[in-house]
Amino acid sequence: MASDVQPEARLGGALARQAERLSHCVHCGFCLPACPTYTRLGDEADSPRGRLHLMGAVVEGRLAPDSAAFQEHLDRCLGCRACESVCPSGVEYGFLLERAREVAVNARPPSLLQRFLLGAVERPLLFRPWMWGSRLLRATGLPALLARRLPGRGRVLGTLRLGMAMLAASAPARPGEVDEGGRGEAGAQGVSPESPPEPRGRVAILRGCVQDQLFRRVNRATVRVLEANGWEVVEVSGQGCCGALHAHGGRLSEARAMARRNVGAFQPSRVDHVVLNAAGCGAAMREYPHLLEEDDPGAVEGGRWLGSRVLDVSELLAGNGRRPRTGAPVPWQVAYDAPCHLLHGQRVAHPPLRLLRSIPALELREMEGADECCGGAGVYGLTHLELGGRIGGDKVEAVRRSGARVVATGNPGCIMQIGAGLRMAGIRAHVMHPIEILDESYRRSGIYRDT
Ligand code: SF4
Ligand code: SF4
Repeated sequence: MASDVQPEARLGGALARQAERLSHCVHCGFCLPACPTYTRLGDEADSPRGRLHLMGAVVEGRLAPDSAAFQEHLDRCLGCRACESVCPSGVEYGFLLERAREVAVNARPPSLLQRFLLGAVERPLLFRPWMWGSRLLRATGLPALLARRLPGRGRVLGTLRLGMAMLAASAPARPGEVDEGGRGEAGAQGVSPESPPEPRGRVAILRGCVQDQLFRRVNRATVRVLEANGWEVVEVSGQGCCGALHAHGGRLSEARAMARRNVGAFQPSRVDHVVLNAAGCGAAMREYPHLLEEDDPGAVEGGRWLGSRVLDVSELLAGNGRRPRTGAPVPWQVAYDAPCHLLHGQRVAHPPLRLLRSIPALELREMEGADECCGGAGVYGLTHLELGGRIGGDKVEAVRRSGARVVATGNPGCIMQIGAGLRMAGIRAHVMHPIEILDESYRRSGIYRDT
């Protein structure tokens, strides 16, 4: 394909330095059935193998980074990394995608909506009032009403409806709102809480950006549950956004600045673990050493220190043969949906299930496609209304078929995307973080009275 771009840009900048990593793909195609965009669209260029081929073509100068093929097929990727989990050659697709996106956004600026959403997160003077206004709006109940009443047709109305449904879905379930089939808190009576465990060590949690503003209850539940399990939780000031959204959007220099800030904040705390309750943030922080090694070798050591201490809260409580303290019965029918960046990005599959199974009377329901992306993928649901909606629609249908009253998933974006889909489909099921359900079990048991 002819190209009139300058040689430096044609070589694909950051991507060109990863030619060796790109060469690991042997074009076997094992990843194709795992890819949500390929299975929906059936186009090789919307598959992992096709996208890697496009990246190679840019590196070799056969395709311009601003060409429609490179821009559109890369943009349609969810970044779910399901392809990585099935790849026999160990292709680091997520890493390559971030470098390819950097090349793509340098060649052609992303949409106004994408720029607004990412730009706001890094500007506290814009982000805090926006989130404050969102919480206020959420409290009025108007988003839930608009999610039901607004027509879904057309890009503007469709985006507005989804945005309102996502905001409504970020609200906590009201007490007694989850259907317990008549087996409610009475079941907790007479339960004697397990004795408090021995002190286990010191941890800190990443508060996050959206998590801290719309899901502060999850952060608070995380602290309560960890303390009830013998962990001392220390507060770390000066921490900020993990940079995941920026890295996924190809804005690697902003992501590196955020990584350096977090290394500077957490390293002096000398904690045993940095605990995450947002899968996307955990995956991003584990990759800080790779992110920093490319342009800041002096910061790599700090990145390694922080990355090696990151644990998802489910791993800390129910990984490596550990078992969380038992609370009171919570007789809810729960389906677990695995966040992509926990399952594929961090390879944490079993601990969230073990955590949920530790809750007495909880009925864990099977859900088809629980390991497939929900279509949320950061801001993808909003920026790719049609395709994100199709992928999300399949998830909503799977929830309906499971018969679950609660969907448990450990990532704020997934909570909002799945919760929005359920609301728009009129299905009465709540989406919660697994730690919120364990917290409910502890609240019912009286454990918190002795910690
Ligand atoms: S990315 Fe992996 S699974 Fe997919 S075609 Fe290449 S080598 Fe095969
Ligand atoms: S990250 Fe997900 S959407 Fe993108 S190519 Fe891999 S499997 Fe497909």
